[in-house]
Amino acid sequence: MSLNNLTIKEAHDGLKKKEFSSVDLAKACLEQIKKTDEKIKAFITVTEDIALKQAEAADKKADFSNPLAGIPFALKDCFCVQGIKSTGGSKILANYIPPFSATSAEKLEKESGVLLGKVNLDEFTMGSSCENSGFFPTKNPWDLERVPGGSSGGSAAAVAADQCFYSLGTDTGGSIREPASFCGTVGLKVTYGRVSRYGVMSYASSFDTIGPLTKTVEDAAIVLNTIAGHDSKDSTTPPVAVPDYTFDLKKDIKGLKIGVPKEYFVKGMDPAIEKSVQEAIKKFEDLGAKIVEVSLPLTKYAIATYYILVKSEASANLARYDGVRYGFSATADSLSQNYLETKAQGFGPEVKRSIMMGTYALSAGYYDAYYLKAAKVRTLIKREFDQVFKDIDCLVAPVTPMLPFKLGEKVDDPLQMYLADIFTVPINTAGVPAISLPCGFAKPQNGDKELPIGLQIIGKHFDEKTILRAAYNYEQATEWHKRKPNL
Ligand code: GLN
Repeated sequence: MSLNNLTIKEAHDGLKKKEFSSVDLAKACLEQIKKTDEKIKAFITVTEDIALKQAEAADKKADFSNPLAGIPFALKDCFCVQGIKSTGGSKILANYIPPFSATSAEKLEKESGVLLGKVNLDEFTMGSSCENSGFFPTKNPWDLERVPGGSSGGSAAAVAADQCFYSLGTDTGGSIREPASFCGTVGLKVTYGRVSRYGVMSYASSFDTIGPLTKTVEDAAIVLNTIAGHDSKDSTTPPVAVPDYTFDLKKDIKGLKIGVPKEYFVKGMDPAIEKSVQEAIKKFEDLGAKIVEVSLPLTKYAIATYYILVKSEASANLARYDGVRYGFSATADSLSQNYLETKAQGFGPEVKRSIMMGTYALSAGYYDAYYLKAAKVRTLIKREFDQVFKDIDCLVAPVTPMLPFKLGEKVDDPLQMYLADIFTVPINTAGVPAISLPCGFAKPQNGDKELPIGLQIIGKHFDEKTILRAAYNYEQATEWHKRKPNL
């Protein structure tokens, strides 16, 4: 086994015992990137020199009190890092070098983290397959003909392929959980406001969240410990105390009340997914949890509500890419022509669709019928979750209704792509936290390679601790997280 195959926890223990150095870890990851990334295409930018310098500095400092010290990681390319190209997966920012860093990136740097580079995503995080990247699609390490999920597809693929120990992604409607599920990794979507969004390119500001993709549940708790908390630069991060998310993690789940929302088992979902999730529910029962069926009837409105609201927010957020302030600017004869050409050439189809849908929903004649109505339904969806959580500790559900699909299979049919998010967008609409972790493998009908299946555990506002504990107990009682793709 090579060093890059270790978990954060194992690598940290080895660093403390001086079994190897941070430079050894960085070199093992860089080697793996060189060996595998031609096929997988997870990285947009590899920061080899910076990684080696940071690793040397971590070794020299030799302070491994924070478990992330000296550990190599990757950032989704929508995180701004001072002095390092940060594209958002968009041609409009193809050469953009930010003069400042995202708070989460800064925190990791301060704790002697080792940045290996920036990974691929759907343009400005809009998508569910990573095919909307302005540069190239990333491939699923379990089957190179399939998508890794999106939009944090580069983050999930890089972790699954052991190119890094962990990665940060963003989740507006499923973009951490869906790729984690497709690539067989752990992905944590935090409560809205738990992690600062400062310096991360916005999709829909009232939905966007930042979180880790890792190899194990314990690693996700370790990363959250460092990145969570109030930030004076992001007024949506409340001053809620940050607990130690690794404390209590290993406590059993006897008596834990787990709800199973019946609306999350729909006709048309892949039977292999339904089977794996039902088996996971049985496993929770064996571990001493109490299972109750619950109902979230507004689930059927979640996709429509979500897409009206996020595209409205996106259309406003994207106005800043005007060819004057940031990045690419088209050559044109007049200022108005420059605005038009910059956006026409700089943005891809899904981003253009977002601007058109959002502008339409916000326009004077349609605001009440679309935006306002959706905003009201959002409140009802949130209330429905609050109500259900009065009697239970967490919910379990599938992450997606389908296995990783083939590259090109859905990219020309946006509605089909949106439907992949049916089990993830309600969670963002309510603002609650959720985690995705492996719960099985299955061969798709149109393929012969085994593909990962994800389990979703959903929690109460700011109760990441309970979902992490439930996930940890399940993970330790199963073997799924030990499987590796054959690269
Ligand atoms: N696929 C969803 C969308 O395009 C979710 C994306 C995300 O979470 N960033 O809106």
